[in-house]
Amino acid sequence: MCVKDDNERRKDHDKEYVGFATLPNQVHRKSVKKGFDFTLMVAGESGLGKSTLVNSLFLTDLYKDRNLLNAEERITQTVEITKHTVDIEEKGVKLKLTIVDTPGFGDAVNNTECWKSVADYIDQQFEQYFRDESGLNRKNIQDNRVHCCLYFISPFGHGLRPLDVEFMKALHEKVNIVPVLAKADTLTPAEVKKKKIKIREEIEQYGIKIYQFPDCDSDEDEDFKQQDQELKDSIPFAVIGSNTVVEAKGKRVRGRLYPWGIVEVENPAHCDFVKLRNMLVRTHMQDLKDVTRETHYENYRAHCIQSMTRMVVKERNRNKLTRESGTDFPIPMVPSVTDTETEKLIREKDEEVRHSPSRDPHEQTQHPEPEPCEDPASEPHPKMCFNVTINEHCMIFE
Ligand code: GDP
Repeated sequence: MCVKDDNERRKDHDKEYVGFATLPNQVHRKSVKKGFDFTLMVAGESGLGKSTLVNSLFLTDLYKDRNLLNAEERITQTVEITKHTVDIEEKGVKLKLTIVDTPGFGDAVNNTECWKSVADYIDQQFEQYFRDESGLNRKNIQDNRVHCCLYFISPFGHGLRPLDVEFMKALHEKVNIVPVLAKADTLTPAEVKKKKIKIREEIEQYGIKIYQFPDCDSDEDEDFKQQDQELKDSIPFAVIGSNTVVEAKGKRVRGRLYPWGIVEVENPAHCDFVKLRNMLVRTHMQDLKDVTRETHYENYRAHCIQSMTRMVVKERNRNKLTRESGTDFPIPMVPSVTDTETEKLIREKDEEVRHSPSRDPHEQTQHPEPEPCEDPASEPHPKMCFNVTINEHCMIFE
């Protein structure tokens, strides 16, 4: 009797159930299938342990073929930007991790404006994304925007050096900066504490806008709130890196062996390595990507559109002056060298849309109804473009 009641109740409940509660599962399934990507930049003078820390963070050897320069070569070397990409997989979830390194930063005798090539690199990635997004093949955009920059601060100075201030101030509007205090095993716990306070004060004093952890919701449990506060108080993360595994208290751990003992990289009593890794991978990776997209990239985009509008208005005014009739006319087509290129892209796009394979059969059974316009590029596009030259590149607008 009781079983029947239960069944009836379930049937009644099913009648009221539309099914959108499964939406998160659908999103989850799609994201896992697509895989994730993340681009991390490391900056700071050479020898501060950047490559060692990256290898320790992701348990890979990303710097197998690194070429270390001697002192003489370093004096003349300009800042270089190098990129290493690895595909890592954990429990079926794939992550394409890109590490952008900045060898040569801060190594020269005169380091004036040595942050410039780093800033240019970040802008170039935004520009490429902007061009791809404004173009015709939006389906296969490769996103190379930098989501986070770990900035290494030397443990040997008294707080921030002028170069640190200059770098962070020049880049804080372009990328999420997370400052780290390098080689924390060279400092005593009291020194680490003092240096962290000093660096935080200086960050405030110089108006540097480092990455801000989002505030946690008021309904979160107390444990979570406390962890969140601890994370915020850890800035700059005091880190230790090591590429070697040593034996400590019968366990094999990543650490550094000294005559007086072992420093364990993953021991929270020794440094903030675990906190940093959890923040980067487990808790804030998506937020770092969101802030990149919603704040830094949006800023860049708004800037670009503003300068393009200004150029178009200028061009219009110039044309107005040279025209006999003073009547208004539509936005001019700037004589373009890429007209044929645009036509070629349109033809390719048409071809792609015509030959695009139907969704895979497995997905079809899962989603019998076509999803509403998931790929903006497949929307009918008006074949009208205007081209504007900006920074010597031609932007194409649909
Ligand atoms: P990078 O030039 O910034 O990439 O620095 P490397 O990772 O190549 O490290 C330079 C040197 O510092 C190497 O000899 C490392 O073994 C050492 N090193 C790296 N991390 C640490 C650390 O956390 N503490 C100490 N004491 N040495 C480190």
